[in-house]
Amino acid sequence: MSLLDGISSEDFIKALTKAPYVNCPVCGAKNTAGTCVIARRSFSRRCFKCGENSSGGSLPDLDKKIIYLDQCALGFMLRALIYKEGETKEKEDQVPVIENFLKAFEKIDILNKKQLLICPKSDFHFKETSIMSEERAKALTHVNTLLSSTNSFFEASRIITRQTFSHFSAWLQGETFEFNDDKKEATSSTVDDWNMWINVVVNHKLSEEYVESLQTEKEDNHKELGGLFAKWQKENGKSYDEFRTLELSNFGLLMTTLPSMQSYSLPDVSSMIELLFRSVMYPDYLHQISRSFFGICEKYGVSEDKRAEKIHEYFLSEEILQVPFFQISSALTALVAHRASQNEDMKVDGNNIIDILFMSLFLPYTDAVLMETKWHRDLLTLPLTYKAKVFSFSNMPDFFTYLNDIESSASQEIIDKAKNVYGDLKPYYTVHKL
Ligand SMILES: [Zn+2]
Repeated sequence: MSLLDGISSEDFIKALTKAPYVNCPVCGAKNTAGTCVIARRSFSRRCFKCGENSSGGSLPDLDKKIIYLDQCALGFMLRALIYKEGETKEKEDQVPVIENFLKAFEKIDILNKKQLLICPKSDFHFKETSIMSEERAKALTHVNTLLSSTNSFFEASRIITRQTFSHFSAWLQGETFEFNDDKKEATSSTVDDWNMWINVVVNHKLSEEYVESLQTEKEDNHKELGGLFAKWQKENGKSYDEFRTLELSNFGLLMTTLPSMQSYSLPDVSSMIELLFRSVMYPDYLHQISRSFFGICEKYGVSEDKRAEKIHEYFLSEEILQVPFFQISSALTALVAHRASQNEDMKVDGNNIIDILFMSLFLPYTDAVLMETKWHRDLLTLPLTYKAKVFSFSNMPDFFTYLNDIESSASQEIIDKAKNVYGDLKPYYTVHKL
């Protein structure tokens, strides 16, 4: 017996296709040919009467906006969907917040279906989601997959090394560095493709050991950050600028000393930037990065006895701030250090690690970020350069205006084609219940 026993070929083709159903150009039947396969720049239809495929025509090029939704924004959207389905009640004062997130979800989902924007997944979403309850993780993954159409940001190590090594090479040669903020420097090459009409979500259960290791990693990072906090809280009197210089300089020193150390043995954490690296890379990878710095020195003719000195000089130079990752991460880590130094009672917030990482990595390449309010003001006041417009719970009306502008400035040809391919473009309110 096969899985398809008892299923008529008509029903089978209906399951493989979706509305809108148009007249079949092969057999002439009315409203029987539905969207079947969507390729990068074309699509096909299949008729459930005659079973034949026909071309749906070509599709125009796309240039989607990239929006990063932090874990908190995604969590609120899920909460809003559950509320909308009447599965939970919310406290009265929470209702306006939830309604804002429902509206954000609706607008983003529709603009994603119109092929005007995309919200790629990240490793941070994955890590944060994996340690939740299975049911919640599944629901959140479905929302995340819908809005990302399975596209992702590159892993952190890839983004950081790409920026750093090209900049360090230019610096050694005295050349000007031009940072390329194109989205494809940091996201899947498929971000500007027409979305598949169906997203396959693999709900493979993560092994208990793996989930435990993620939990332990988070706790270890939290503990190490606690150690740094205790140190900062004894350094009352240091200025923000001093902390920023120390953050970069200590990390630079680590880069110069690692190759002479035994693999896998690391000294105590000396900067938060180091902790950011440790939380996204295997310990040995930090050694590899360090060896790469020495390798680049060798390539550009720095004599062996001068290489460590040169690398440290680089981390003390003004120019290192041209590397977006170091510019943003050093500013934000120094801010945390400075605040800790001024407030003995300040509590360690383990989420700072992931927050600073996603801002340092994605703000330069994304068009907009929707995130928690707590960092919003800091991002506005710090002298940082990045492409993204920043939105948080504190300026949701501005976010809606931003989304409306994307829609009103879009090409009508693309919107018409999207309707042609995907049918009625309605929000997918029940995605979390799959
Ligand atoms: Zn037909």
